Amino acid sequence: MVVGVLALQGSFNEHIAVLKRLGVKNVQIRKPEQLQNVTSLIIPGGESTTMAKLAEYHNLFPALREFVKMGKPVWGTCAGLIFLANKATGQKNGGQELTGGLDCTVHRNFFGSQIQSFETELPIPEIAAKEGGPPSCRAVFIRAPAIIEVGPDVKVLADIPVSSAVTANSSPAIQSEEELTKSEKKVIVAVKQGNLLATAFHPELTADTRWHSYFLKMEPETEDGTSAIASTSSVD
Ligand code: GLN
Repeated sequence: MVVGVLALQGSFNEHIAVLKRLGVKNVQIRKPEQLQNVTSLIIPGGESTTMAKLAEYHNLFPALREFVKMGKPVWGTCAGLIFLANKATGQKNGGQELTGGLDCTVHRNFFGSQIQSFETELPIPEIAAKEGGPPSCRAVFIRAPAIIEVGPDVKVLADIPVSSAVTANSSPAIQSEEELTKSEKKVIVAVKQGNLLATAFHPELTADTRWHSYFLKMEPETEDGTSAIASTSSVD
């Protein structure tokens, strides 16, 4: 097993540090051809517009999309979640390219700007059942997105009441009443769909390695596992 970590921008070093702690071989991915030698991929958090510009500059999008379609495990954290989403809303400065594949709508910066970043205790029943340990994890949300809509093949691994962020901050950057209604006052912050895992927070910034262990156990999807295959991706 060799795990690729997209190393254009953001918290790739922190993911690599966790992989090293777990004794897992890893490769920093900066060029399309490097994806050929890895069995799975982590797309880290950072700033998704910047990351997308760099990915475009390095002509990485076709290879990234192909990697997702091949059914190999891919985990997006925060900006990485935005990359994997089929649709992103809440853009301030126009759109950006997405890898797509994850049947969901993600709201960029749902919880607000940098100063509205927060930490919370997040219940993670599925992860705790598979990996053991306490029933929740410490979750670090930095200018975090949230998933406001999911398709039928998407399994929700964690959600939080919007009010928990409101308590931690003054108010989340919900842009319309409609979005708030859609979220039913709870928003999704971790999902799995076939070979794709996505978290709106940063497990690599805590000492809890259960999310990484969970990801490392994910199997590639077989040919008939069509759920992970993106048809289109778009940005509002
Ligand atoms: N909301 C940020 C973005 O749009 C992502 C934040 C993060 O990765 N910590 O890129």
